[in-house]
Amino acid sequence: MLTKRMFLAAATACGLALGTGPAMASERLDVVATTGMIADAAREVGGELLEVRALMGPGVDPHSYRQTRSDIVAMARADLVLWHGLYLEAQLEEFLLDLAADRPVVAVAENLPRDVLISHEDYADKHDPHVWMDPELWGLVVLNVRDALIAARPGDEAAFRANAEAYLAQLAELARYTDAVLASVPEESRVLVTAHDAFNYFGAAHDFEVVGIQGISTESEAGLRRIGELVDMLVARDIGAVFVESSVSDRNVRALVEGAAARGHEVVIGGELYSDAMGAPGSYEGTYLGMIDHNATVIASALGGTAPERGMQGLLN
Ligand code: ZN
Repeated sequence: MLTKRMFLAAATACGLALGTGPAMASERLDVVATTGMIADAAREVGGELLEVRALMGPGVDPHSYRQTRSDIVAMARADLVLWHGLYLEAQLEEFLLDLAADRPVVAVAENLPRDVLISHEDYADKHDPHVWMDPELWGLVVLNVRDALIAARPGDEAAFRANAEAYLAQLAELARYTDAVLASVPEESRVLVTAHDAFNYFGAAHDFEVVGIQGISTESEAGLRRIGELVDMLVARDIGAVFVESSVSDRNVRALVEGAAARGHEVVIGGELYSDAMGAPGSYEGTYLGMIDHNATVIASALGGTAPERGMQGLLN
């Protein structure tokens, strides 16, 4: 774990000056975000006024991610660092809390109202961090991103507010689309089996039962007994599709498919979902809208519902 002293030493070794004060108003605000989803929110709210960099790219697991040397340099240079909080970035947390003593560092999901958060089954005082799975909750995070940008660059408040409002309208449209396609899945088929517990907010929003093979963090290994129990469930409830995730190994999901096949019950992999990371930068799936559109469209289609083949806007690959 990098301590604050090590951070300062690394920053100095890289020739960076700390505490040089706010950038000139004409310069783009330099923002570093931990996850791609937060970076996307910052781009939507900040537009051309920002230079945004995400530390974690496609397929990267935030639960186990540790900062690299180039991440440290980027954060030391940034005008603003945005992270998720709620113990999502478990391995980065100590570093970010240290960094917050010197720099504007904001955890954008940390202050969501406790009554909208789902409790963590393993810890009484912790909550499930995967709030981006519900576009309405993500809208609250977008507002926190907006407020962090306003605090960092008060002169651009009007633009940040206008951009955020326009983006919230798009999120509302996304929520309407996901509600509609997921409501088309027959009630008895509303069971989502995935590699880890990333979809509890999705389940709560759309009345799906959600079963993750691993727990909320990917740090725990699913045991053979857990796999056996889930195979029993797939067979007993005649569930025909399970899903892999782009940021988690598909090994356990494949073990379920094989286990069910050995019992004479065919289960297919219904598709790959974006759970804790978005798709490739520059693609539609590399945006928050595309990520959630993809997930809802794939889930609805695989579980017997109806959804347009290329999603809400005809943009899915
Ligand atoms: Zn996760």
